[in-house]
Amino acid sequence: MAKKQRRMTKQKRVILDVLRSTTSHPTADWIYNEAKKILPNLSLGTVYRNLNNLKEEGKILELSYGSTYSRFDGNPENHYHCVCVECGKVADLDMPVVEELDKKAQEAQGSSIFYHRLEFYGLCPHCEEKEMKN
Ligand code: ZN
Ligand code: MN
Repeated sequence: MAKKQRRMTKQKRVILDVLRSTTSHPTADWIYNEAKKILPNLSLGTVYRNLNNLKEEGKILELSYGSTYSRFDGNPENHYHCVCVECGKVADLDMPVVEELDKKAQEAQGSSIFYHRLEFYGLCPHCEEKEMKN
C-alpha cells in the first residue's frame, strides 16, 4: 500500500517525538498537553491534523476502541494490545505471531491477506492485584 509522504514540520516532529517518548498509548489531548510544553502556541486542531498525517504516512498507529477516545501509538508495526476493562490502560503484548497469523489466514482464504487486527481485553496486573485483595 502506497503511503503518502508529507514534509516534516517542526510541529509534526515534536508531536512524533512526544508520542514516541511514551508507551502509554496516549490520547490526542495528552499529546497536546505534552507538546505544548515545547511549542506553547500549538493548537489542539494542529495536533489532530498532524496525528492524522503521521497515521497516513505509516509512522504511527491510531487505536480506536468503540465509544472511547482514540489512542495513538508511536510504534507503527502491527502488534497486539491488552485493554484493561477496569482502568482502560492499553498495554503492549509481546506476542510475535503477527506474520504467522497472516500466513494462516492466507492459507484459509486462498488469496492475499495484507494485515489483521486483534484486540485482547482483560485486567492489567495492577487491577488484578486489587481484585485479589477484595
Ligand atoms: Zn487496570
Ligand atoms: Mn502499542
